[in-house]
Amino acid sequence: AQHAQNAAVFMTLDDGTQLSYVDFITRVARIAHVLQDAGVKPGDRVVVQAPKLMDTIALYGAAVQAGAVYLPLNTAYTQTELAYFIEDAAPALVVCDASNADEIAAICSDDTNVLTLSKDGSGSLSTQANDKPTTFETVPRGPDDLAALLYTSGTTGRSKGAMLSHKNLLSNARALTDLWQITDADRLIHALPIFHTHGLFVAMNTSLLAGAQLRFMAAFDVDTIVDEMPTSTMLMGVPTFYTRLLGDARLTKDLVANMRLFVSGSAPLLAETHTAFEDRTGHRILERYGMTETNMITSNPFDGERLAGTVGYPLPGTEVEITDNGAPVAAGEIGMIEVRGDNVFQGYWNMPEKTAEELRDTGFFITGDLGVKTEDGRIAIVGREKDLIISGGYNIYPKEIEDVINDIDGVSESAVFGVPHPDFGESVLAAVVLEDTTVTADAIAARVEPHLARFKHPRRYIITDELPRNTMGKVQKNVLRTEHST
Ligand code: ATP
Ligand code: MG
Repeated sequence: AQHAQNAAVFMTLDDGTQLSYVDFITRVARIAHVLQDAGVKPGDRVVVQAPKLMDTIALYGAAVQAGAVYLPLNTAYTQTELAYFIEDAAPALVVCDASNADEIAAICSDDTNVLTLSKDGSGSLSTQANDKPTTFETVPRGPDDLAALLYTSGTTGRSKGAMLSHKNLLSNARALTDLWQITDADRLIHALPIFHTHGLFVAMNTSLLAGAQLRFMAAFDVDTIVDEMPTSTMLMGVPTFYTRLLGDARLTKDLVANMRLFVSGSAPLLAETHTAFEDRTGHRILERYGMTETNMITSNPFDGERLAGTVGYPLPGTEVEITDNGAPVAAGEIGMIEVRGDNVFQGYWNMPEKTAEELRDTGFFITGDLGVKTEDGRIAIVGREKDLIISGGYNIYPKEIEDVINDIDGVSESAVFGVPHPDFGESVLAAVVLEDTTVTADAIAARVEPHLARFKHPRRYIITDELPRNTMGKVQKNVLRTEHST
């Protein structure tokens, strides 16, 4: 609201349209009226499966201003998937593309309204908003009231709804804005989807808080990013953004002369990418770690060493413990990553048992990720507990093997996973994507074996064109396990 007095630019869209902070706040107010008129009451869920548009962000603001709970859904979700989310969340309102409206209306209960917001910006939501008053009295909410219900990416199973309070979101946005020194002099290239914690909360909430500018791209596109870097200061991305940029010869030190920060997260950044990016641009990518349930947990330092293969220190206000059966382990030992702080969610929607299993009475959340803490408090992620392979009684961490495989010339990436084995419990397999297709499975085995104890050697290397990924680009090891279990 402090920015409402000036006409500072908030967003620049792909077609060059600019939207000021004043315009944005006006649009938010108008849409908040639409929500209220559609019967949305404080605490009600507003489900949004809409394209990445300026009005979609205004709708997020409007839901919050009207005291509702914003619930964005991946635009790739199909009708069957939507039916699950809509039934689970029981929203008062669904906003979707006009082309899906009839099908969505059919799966909604009689208490749910449907409004539309289509790719070209048209639809009943925008039409109704155009006629509404330009101010809206903000519905008061407390720090523990819900602001959003965000479903996890569904990498390891069915997506779960994480209940996020105002305090959860605000504390994290403040911590990140401070740490990364985001100000109204920044211009962020926003190329992430806005239905996920990274693009919606990490990128939007920090920008809104700092009064920064956004170059709001409808989708990731190398050419556009190359065009925008000379006049921008920050990029937030997933690791594939960086590998794709590295694949373009126009990425040079000169091109990024005005950029001050490159952030990566949502999936592990290969050390190789980190090094290659520094060689080409002089910038060390800042890797951070977080999840839907906790917002961001750790970050590499803004000032100070950014180390490849680590996710840095806990954010101010966030505690991280590495535990074995709930008891902290020594520095250097692998254990479960547990997190406590204002950033940690209020529990899973409609899943009291799962919440009780993962959220301790002490306030610590059991993340499901395994990690190590160094003596000086840096965290490195080892992988998900669900991906841990236990073979012949030994714990095998896939990442250790993947690191060795990925280091081989001609290998582009790999995924190591366990499949059931009658004697050993599980055995180790590796799916490998090649850069140089003349590399053979035998050659890979010969390179890997000297580096690793015998029980860690993959029993088979499956050469494949690509790894199975979910719509967030995360590798789905459960798919590999199912495909290759015999
Ligand atoms: P689901 O919980 O439904 O199986 P998901 O865990 O992939 O899906 P998200 O909340 O989107 O859903 O992702 C959080 C997870 O992403 C973390 O638990 C962690 O495993 C991984 N992750 C995030 N950032 C990093 C990072 N920098 N390095 C490695 N892994 C990361
Ligand atoms: Mg998860």
